[in-house]
Amino acid sequence: MLNQRIKIKALLQQASIGTHVTVMGWVRTFRNNQFIALNDGSTNYNLQVVVALGMLPEATLKRITTGASLKVQGTIAESLGKGQSIELLATAIDILGDSDPEKYPLQPKKHSLEFLREIAHLRFRTNTFGAVFRIRHSLAFAVHQFFNERGFLYLHTPIITASDAEGAGEMFRVTTLPFDGTPRNEDGTVNFKEDFFGKSTNLTVSGQLEGELGAMAFSEIYTFGPTFRAENSNTTRHLAEFWMIEPEMAFYDLEDNMNLAEAFIQYLIRYVMAHNSDDLQLLDRRLAEEEKQKPANERSELGLLDKLNFVVNNQFERITYTEAIQILLESPAYKKKKFKYEVSWGIDMQSEHERYLVEKHFKKPVIVTGYPAAIKAFYMRMNDVCEPGKETVAAMDILAPGIGEIVGGSQREERLDVLQKRMEAMHIPVEEMSWYIDTRRFGTVPHAGFGLGFERMVQFVTGMTNIRDVIPFARTPKNCSF
Ligand code: ATP
Ligand code: MN
Repeated sequence: MLNQRIKIKALLQQASIGTHVTVMGWVRTFRNNQFIALNDGSTNYNLQVVVALGMLPEATLKRITTGASLKVQGTIAESLGKGQSIELLATAIDILGDSDPEKYPLQPKKHSLEFLREIAHLRFRTNTFGAVFRIRHSLAFAVHQFFNERGFLYLHTPIITASDAEGAGEMFRVTTLPFDGTPRNEDGTVNFKEDFFGKSTNLTVSGQLEGELGAMAFSEIYTFGPTFRAENSNTTRHLAEFWMIEPEMAFYDLEDNMNLAEAFIQYLIRYVMAHNSDDLQLLDRRLAEEEKQKPANERSELGLLDKLNFVVNNQFERITYTEAIQILLESPAYKKKKFKYEVSWGIDMQSEHERYLVEKHFKKPVIVTGYPAAIKAFYMRMNDVCEPGKETVAAMDILAPGIGEIVGGSQREERLDVLQKRMEAMHIPVEEMSWYIDTRRFGTVPHAGFGLGFERMVQFVTGMTNIRDVIPFARTPKNCSF
């Protein structure tokens, strides 16, 4: 049996001096033919393994190289060296796997994030990515814990869907039809009756519509799964495949929805602060270094830990879309013509506008409500009082410093007649969607929900600026490696 080892995290936390243990891991560095820094991914701290002089033949010492994997047995001793309190005095070392130092791409020095992206299959072995992915794990775990504590049901919504009604983004087609000799109808269009599902199908852009069906029986549900958008935009915030958390709650109005979303985000941050403080400190130092490279006026005012502390200890700002536009129109940035895109009531705010609001004006997360109906999806609830031409819906977006939109949500339109009219006006195929409209026919209730982009949340908590660096293997335009 191999698995009688102790993980390095547990060893550093609880092992007592003099005990005999077995550890396994990968070599980070080997100094003076004597000191091995060994890491097994359980923590960003390495275990110092001490090799007694003369203990190993020269040929074996040569094989202890960066990246090689080892099984080490030894005795825990107090460390005399700086930087660690205990170390392992090796009594036996087995090399499990060699790593040719001429070929191993990770050297014990600082590599750029761009370079590490090209070797994403190895980047988990670096301090930065070790920390990022341990935090990603903690966040995923905390998502389930948060909802479970509140009695929400985890609903698995389908990945393959036939509805193209959501309109949240461009979709990837799912088909088994051949490219050559595609079956055609008489009018030349593709005959999807011949396709696997007998109709045109896609990868899901959101689980919301199915989530609503669940909420109409279980009261409160959430989904947490992969989502796909053929976004042909190369930004630091968009992936073609990302993970989304979508709670959907019966008997909630917009304010209940905002309260839940705010509590949720704060809970996730608190969880990571309580369980990943070592990793956060490492990323806090990394970000401080990165910020130092920037011109003074582009640096953020708060470090990572300060920012997270601030967010859990302060309420989010809540403003209406109309107020947001007003603030933008009165801003020095607008007056000095600093915005690339126009500002007027009715625009879909661009990321420069959102960033101005959160980073310059409020300096904290902002919840914007009451967006123009014309720029939002059909299922959002129409607000009652509005001037003609200025119809708004009960939508809410949460904007976060450094990220922009992190949550998009709304109270849903529960009134059958209003929903049907809106769907017709927006050319949504009402017949095909009759399963969705049934929820409004049979026991409709006020309800609400939102979507939190999981990677954007990981970005926010880790301070990583590029979304490609918070998902193990990013899928973006013209890039699908690993
Ligand atoms: P954006 O304006 O940033 O493109 P959106 O309005 O398309 O976002 P929604 O459809 O409301 O976003 O999706 C809900 C959440 O999913 C967003 O708030 C965001 O956190 C996340 N999200 C949306 N698109 C992507 C993407 N391509 N990659 C990663 N996360 C995304
Ligand atoms: Mn989008």
